[in-house]
Amino acid sequence: MKMFLKGKWIDGDQCAEVVNPYNGDSIDTVPVGSAKDIESALDGLEQGAKVMRDMPTHQRVDILRKAAQIIQGQQEKLGRLISTEEGKVLTEGLIEAGRAAETFDLSADEARNLHGETIPLDSTPGGVGKLGFTLRVPCGIVAAITPFNFPLNLVSHKVGPAIAGGNAVLLKPASDTPLSALKLVEILLEAGLPPQAIACVTGPGSKLGAAICEDQRVRKISFTGSAEVGESITRTAGLKRITMELGSNSPVIVLDDADLEKVASTLAVTGYANAGQVCISSQRVIATTGCHDDLTDALLDKVSKLNAGDQLAEGTDVGPLVREGDAKRVENWLREAKEHGAQLLCGGSREGSLIQPALLTDVGADMKISCEELFGPALGITRATDIDEAIGLANQTRFGLSAAVFTQDIDRAMRFAREVDSGNLHINFGTAWRAEIMPYGGLKDSGFGKEGPKYAINEMTETKMVIVH
Ligand code: NAD
Repeated sequence: MKMFLKGKWIDGDQCAEVVNPYNGDSIDTVPVGSAKDIESALDGLEQGAKVMRDMPTHQRVDILRKAAQIIQGQQEKLGRLISTEEGKVLTEGLIEAGRAAETFDLSADEARNLHGETIPLDSTPGGVGKLGFTLRVPCGIVAAITPFNFPLNLVSHKVGPAIAGGNAVLLKPASDTPLSALKLVEILLEAGLPPQAIACVTGPGSKLGAAICEDQRVRKISFTGSAEVGESITRTAGLKRITMELGSNSPVIVLDDADLEKVASTLAVTGYANAGQVCISSQRVIATTGCHDDLTDALLDKVSKLNAGDQLAEGTDVGPLVREGDAKRVENWLREAKEHGAQLLCGGSREGSLIQPALLTDVGADMKISCEELFGPALGITRATDIDEAIGLANQTRFGLSAAVFTQDIDRAMRFAREVDSGNLHINFGTAWRAEIMPYGGLKDSGFGKEGPKYAINEMTETKMVIVH
């Protein structure tokens, strides 16, 4: 495919192959963009930002609604493209495409809800006789930098709200999975988005990142990706508005009174979906002594039955990791955990980019598979004596994106919600669950700012205060 800037589909000086991570087969090529392409894209978007600022709400709503309908109509095709370039199993690809349609539909709803408020200036004697109200205005140009693991829906979570808020968008998709994003640009143009209002430049972030983040014409950066890259962006961005959706190593506390069959069947999904390459993937299972052994047996029964293989083949539960290098990293971390005393109960072997779904016990809080983001198909179980120790272990991390507890006791569940430092808190389900409508984002090193169309629009618009004297 070509990249899109200044209203045109263009080739770059060089191109890069996009491959199926399962077998390395080439799917397509995309241009390797340069800093000059970013410069040129921003020249075009300056004009696009003016067009979007002046576009009436009903037109923005129509574009977003139409985009949702086109995505829905192409769900099958888009789902297959997502799975092929990213590696998630086909059912997950189809779900992601369906969710992207919902994200655009919600963005359309929220475009209508964008309004200011009147301010009671006469609350103090100096304000008597004056009228004050606020206006919500677009940021102008929003830069959307997105990760590989949800190549359509996480792009939609930035582009949908940006358009709803009346902005132009510079999109920089992940280098491994740019095709779904480029397809989305085609869909938006078909839905009636003015061509000047969007640009999509493909290529490595290391080459394009500084050109995007340093440019004064970008008023807002919305980034989803690793904590390391996120931190480097905050250093180069300077005086810009920033949203950071970063990584995690999500804990799941299982207390003695939990329904262990339900816990095991849930965690066999929330720990292994997309081969664990989900920012809210369940990673650290913290089980209290009374249920630890039974839970381990129940989990082993489920996890050992998961089929790893070709993501497009029927019957596959877990597809490949996005790159062989990532699979090697996961293999090494599992080996390191074993060397430090963890027990590998099943899985863990590697063939190319495929890792057999793994389950470990006796995992220490200081092991890499516990304290860093694993982003692979494995769960590590750690024993805790009681809820106090379990909450302490859950919080023993620099991350705070999603956490879960399984218990029948409402008081203990509410204690978990109050005391665990996490942006999302699940009671009686795994950590990897999200509805497009909810405010979604992390605490601590998992980032700041919220997504979900209503909340993202808030971050992609600014407030003007008007005083009538
Ligand atoms: P990544 O940080 O490697 O890359 C993310 C994006 O940043 C890509 O488009 C990449 O090209 C770009 N990039 C790289 N270097 C850059 C630079 N110096 N300046 C600007 N942009 C740069 O992440 P990834 O491997 O694609 O995705 C996995 C990570 O994303 C995980 O850490 C995961 O937890 C996180 N993630 C978070 C959420 C969330 O909502 N919190 C959702 C999905 C993924």
